[in-house]
Amino acid sequence: MSFSLNDYLEELRPLINIDCGTLTVDGIDVVATIMAQKYLDLGWNVKRVDCGIAGTGLEVRNKPQAEHIDVMLIGHMDTVFPVGTAAARPMTHDNERAYGPGVSDMKSGLLSVVYALRDLDPAALEALSICVCMNPDEEIGSLHSEEWLKSVAINAKHVLVAEAARADGSLVKARKGMARYCLSFHGKAAHAGNEPQNGRSAITEMAHWILAINAMTDFESGTTLNAGVVSGGAGANIVPDFAQVVVDVRFWDNDEYAAVDAKIRALTETPFVDGVTITAEREAHKPSMVPSPQTEVLMAQVEAVGKELGIDITWQAVGGGSDANLTAVLGIPTLDGLGPVGAGFHSADEWLDLASIEPRIRLLQQVLVKIAHQ
Ligand SMILES: [Zn+2]
Repeated sequence: MSFSLNDYLEELRPLINIDCGTLTVDGIDVVATIMAQKYLDLGWNVKRVDCGIAGTGLEVRNKPQAEHIDVMLIGHMDTVFPVGTAAARPMTHDNERAYGPGVSDMKSGLLSVVYALRDLDPAALEALSICVCMNPDEEIGSLHSEEWLKSVAINAKHVLVAEAARADGSLVKARKGMARYCLSFHGKAAHAGNEPQNGRSAITEMAHWILAINAMTDFESGTTLNAGVVSGGAGANIVPDFAQVVVDVRFWDNDEYAAVDAKIRALTETPFVDGVTITAEREAHKPSMVPSPQTEVLMAQVEAVGKELGIDITWQAVGGGSDANLTAVLGIPTLDGLGPVGAGFHSADEWLDLASIEPRIRLLQQVLVKIAHQ
């Protein structure tokens, strides 16, 4: 593979210099069109997938006729950044790093997958049925693409997610599960001076809930709950008839999470304040990704390729979820972090390590060759 860093960066630039935060469907469509063209140029089959209000997803295959998939590659086209970010801080780079919204989370991952496939050993390409899925809403928990991704993954033998490798170069073998709830409390308003006894305070109810939620946290096992956003009330002189809290849950153990979910549901039936009603809406859910024996086989293959290429392969278990969680829970060996090295995700400090780009493309390529030969 003849690799030109300059060419790579020029190909990356239009993917960075466009606002494509989740639900910014126009921008995501531009990214989808750019990515689709790269695969059409390779002669691959490109299918646009309707992901509802999240916009367009892409499903790309080298063997569209094949039922089975040897390797499914996943990347997301959305970022967390609001409209205006691309104009405020377009892509820049110095000798070591590139910067810009989504530069490592994960536009470079999308591009590196294309690079790996463009120059993949023809025999490996012939042997493998490959499907690349690019979704538009990973940053909000893939709410509108989850079903589609799972329906593809169910036919796949391996899943590789091209999120960035960690700052120390580690790949990702395990990710915590997550869930997010919006809890709404409906009480009864009353004048705080004239007849407070006739009110039913939604905020008092919420306060009890927050303490109950905190009590469910177990730092030891890694099941943690965070009441992250609260709102409610209309004035200091009014008993509040409405309050809302958004709760984030993280966990390693899917059974422990199931118990938390059951407890939250049960609590809605037994309000602390008589006369307040509670609704618990689960807005997002990703099961945890914990390596299975089959995943460990895939890890060993990646390590063997690393050795051949002189790349020291290390692994991390991380607290953040990704689409890898969705496929791992289906029992499909799944690894993540196959993009180039980067860090500072979801912040203006986000960076991409330029020196890692070419070696990580080669790593991905050779992992595909190894899977083709097994
Ligand atoms: Zn990402």
